[in-house]
Amino acid sequence: MADLNLADTIDVLVNQKEAEVINIRRDIHMHPEVSGKEERTSGIVAEYLEKHGIEVQRCKNSFGVVGRLKGSKPGPIIALRADMDALPIREKTGLPYASKIDGQMHACGHDVHTAVLMGTASVLSTVRDKLNGTAIFLFQPSEEFFPGGALGLIEEGGIDNPKPNAIFALHTSPIPLGKIAISPGPVIGSVSSLSLRIFGRGGHFSAPHLAVDPILVSSNVVVALSSMVPRRVNPMENAVLTFGMIEGGTRDNIIGDMVVLRGNIGSLNESLCVKLMEDLEKTVKGITEGMGATYKLRYIHGYPTVRNDPHQTTYVRDVATRVIGESNVVPCTPSLGGEDMSYFLNKIPGAFFFLGVHDPDSDQPPVINHDPAFAPDERAIAIGMRLMSRLVTDAAD
Ligand SMILES: [Zn+2]
Ligand SMILES: [Zn+2]
Repeated sequence: MADLNLADTIDVLVNQKEAEVINIRRDIHMHPEVSGKEERTSGIVAEYLEKHGIEVQRCKNSFGVVGRLKGSKPGPIIALRADMDALPIREKTGLPYASKIDGQMHACGHDVHTAVLMGTASVLSTVRDKLNGTAIFLFQPSEEFFPGGALGLIEEGGIDNPKPNAIFALHTSPIPLGKIAISPGPVIGSVSSLSLRIFGRGGHFSAPHLAVDPILVSSNVVVALSSMVPRRVNPMENAVLTFGMIEGGTRDNIIGDMVVLRGNIGSLNESLCVKLMEDLEKTVKGITEGMGATYKLRYIHGYPTVRNDPHQTTYVRDVATRVIGESNVVPCTPSLGGEDMSYFLNKIPGAFFFLGVHDPDSDQPPVINHDPAFAPDERAIAIGMRLMSRLVTDAAD
């Protein structure tokens, strides 16, 4: 291998390790662990990194794992991040390596992210004598569940000593296999979730004038709030408000005394989420007071917006162009879903990109993340390893 340059060596190593890493991914897939419960997965990660001679730090307050790999010469410090948690979803893929745990599934591809980063750590550890700089591997728990696992990793020094110059992460996406999608600026919005209880006065269905019907009040609230986004938000900006749950009443001939509504506000602009929550409360207050009801509103402003640093985005595009070809590097459509990679990106310049996992030869439509039938094409794993490895090695050029 001595006559190969580093990029060619990485290609050879990725090919050699691909089958092993796919097996790791399948094992993690069969044993999903939901947010905050990643004991087995983090144990496998830590053991694997140690086996490859990588210095390992395990978080005390969570299942976070940090690996640090120093090259033979000084150079840039590059952090790569993966998330490890699964979702409370019953798998419907029918695959031979489907989840063995009923009601839990890796339906967001975090098993792929974890395996890709383990494989990348293995590749880079093999070429450490040719490596300039340091690679930091951040395996975080609990991405799917607010307040997320990124903050815990940061609090326990995951990005101190040494502090990375740049950070990157990938996420599986239903774009075609072989492509990545990346854009500068805001790519994933922040999310604020709310729980609203509306209290009326119970009574008999035949005497609504003696009661305060919380179902009617709630209906007015939902209709009024549905026009809030299109009428309060500048049409050139973006925001979404959705009530995903409404619950109230016990029987057809009873006017109940309470309705619960739960929903989310999403926007690429965090301050818009804050403003919309304030506007929402004013509307709720006006309607409930006018109709003789009362309310209690609780809300959480969740993960900040994921913003890609323009220079680091260009760097990822350049590396990806060399690895997969210019035509396979496409812009991404921003989403309002929420991602706690934002906490890292608020401290270190970096970029978050989407890795295509949809088989372009399939006659089925792409299956989106969080669907019980989500089954990423595993050929994306080698592509992810190649990209992540080169994001570290090419930074020294
Ligand atoms: Zn997800
Ligand atoms: Zn995810």
